[in-house]
Amino acid sequence: MTDLRGKAFSTRAVHAGERAPQTGATPVVSPITPSVAYTYEDMDELDQVFANARPGYVYARYTGPAQSAFEAAVASLEEGEAAMAFASGMAAIHAALLAAGVRAGGSVVAAFDLYGATYSLLVRLFASLGVTTRLVDVGDLAAVEAALKETGPAALVVETISNPLLKVADVPALASLAHRYGAQLLVDNTFATPWLFRPLGAGADYAIHSATKYLSGHGDVLAGVVVTSAANRARLFELNKLVGSVLGPFEAWLALRGLKTLPLRVPAQFATAMKLAAWLAARPEVARVNYPGLPTHPQHALAERLFGAQGYGGVLSFELKGADRSRAFRFMDALQLCQPATTLGDIYTLVLHPATSSHRSLSEAERAQVGIGEGLVRLSTGIEAPADLLADLDQALESLGA
Ligand code: PLP
Repeated sequence: MTDLRGKAFSTRAVHAGERAPQTGATPVVSPITPSVAYTYEDMDELDQVFANARPGYVYARYTGPAQSAFEAAVASLEEGEAAMAFASGMAAIHAALLAAGVRAGGSVVAAFDLYGATYSLLVRLFASLGVTTRLVDVGDLAAVEAALKETGPAALVVETISNPLLKVADVPALASLAHRYGAQLLVDNTFATPWLFRPLGAGADYAIHSATKYLSGHGDVLAGVVVTSAANRARLFELNKLVGSVLGPFEAWLALRGLKTLPLRVPAQFATAMKLAAWLAARPEVARVNYPGLPTHPQHALAERLFGAQGYGGVLSFELKGADRSRAFRFMDALQLCQPATTLGDIYTLVLHPATSSHRSLSEAERAQVGIGEGLVRLSTGIEAPADLLADLDQALESLGA
């Protein structure tokens, strides 16, 4: 603490109360530290932290204590060596692609039905930078192998449970295929959460989350995180020093607070999703329900094998029978409890129209190829009473008429 005795009013105004000596007391909850810079006893110590020769903090674009606390918690739940937090899920995916060695002249093999922004990141932005992406149906392992063999990519990119068609990726099989052809496997585990599945234990090199969703869980923070080996984490850290997609300390604190109740929230959300999926599948207004928990889902057996008794996720999507955009919008407008909003994984039940939101950046032809029609609605269950949600869905479906 700077000695302020005899110092001027303006000097005391900026330094008084700051940098108090440590009392030895440890706060039970990790504090938010909004400081942009950190000082040390002497310049040698600062120099060592700069050089990563000793742990510490230097500058807020690199990281800070609240981010480290969140990273340690996510790494523990994902059973990985280390994690790195980012300002958004997209920043996390972008960083993981670069850390995996995706460069101009190189290539990526990716699931054709990825989240819309991830799809566009690869097919438009990375393409404009000289990276070729081969899109494949990751459910067809022979097609994945052929693409890996032909293109020799730096990375294979998949979602454990895809957005919004809820296809399940056979991560253990994809990991061995990727490694056989010298690619690293990047798994977006946002929909599954580490409660359901931990990709690194199944052989993936990077487990990625939009922490905006289930990890934070309350719809009040934008965040991303990558869990990987300590060596890969060091690459991500050096990259992000330059790019600056760092998670802010306030967001990191909120994300960590949300994470604590993940094991209470998600089992309830997943159980509600199972109920809603079965109920919707029996409705005459609904043509098809996509949910890995339904025995009719093409990868139901795979989901059982990968997720065990933990559930099948909290997101489902369904096709309204014969619906065009206006009928889908009418249904969504009629909902009173379920919120039409562009996110998922919150404690609130949310609905979304993929064609005009999560997959808006795709052309109509691209959406048709993926299988996203105008009548498709995605639903993410919250923690409300299932009976209230069913009543809301019932009145909205009834309102559509014949
Ligand atoms: N991955 C998946 C599966 C998503 O659904 C989303 C966003 O909806 C993202 C990544 C991007 O995350 P963010 O919005 O936090 O950048």
